[in-house]
Amino acid sequence: MSSYSRVINHATSILCSNKGSLAFQQLYRKVFQRVEITEDDFWYIVKKCSRFVVVRNRERTDEWGTDCVIVAKTSLRLCKNYTKQDCRDCQELHLCKYFVYGNCRFGKGRKQCKFSHDVRSEHNYTLLRECTLHELHEDDLFLLLLQNDPTLLPEVKHIRTETNTQRIYSTGLSTTD
Ligand SMILES: [Zn+2]
Ligand SMILES: [Zn+2]
Repeated sequence: MSSYSRVINHATSILCSNKGSLAFQQLYRKVFQRVEITEDDFWYIVKKCSRFVVVRNRERTDEWGTDCVIVAKTSLRLCKNYTKQDCRDCQELHLCKYFVYGNCRFGKGRKQCKFSHDVRSEHNYTLLRECTLHELHEDDLFLLLLQNDPTLLPEVKHIRTETNTQRIYSTGLSTTD
């Protein structure tokens, strides 16, 4: 594991705790508080690493470069067949989607949810490790998943607050081009 992976992990959790995106300069400053890295090296990582998408900040300038917004990205998805109890082995997370939304009615009270709330189950944790997302805080991970999976978004709309939804929805769109 290189120091690059440390930078990537750290930057990912910073982005997630800032609703999934930040201006490059802001992100760099926050990363630098924990990891010593030059701005050029950090820019290189952000451009090369599939974890990040660089989005041009059109309102402020036409130039590429450090005046860009960085969005966290992952190809990891929630398994759609899991809740139909129709999946044995796949490369997607087996989790209750309402748990990921943060509004599952079960799990905390007397009634157990029939779907997994366990990010660290053998199936899930193996996938998270492969994507090097296993060190992320649960809330950060869920934000990353919601932001990156367009099929989850329409339902998020009803659940999250208006401003939050719009933010997630618009950054979700900008990662697809
Ligand atoms: Zn599955
Ligand atoms: Zn549940």
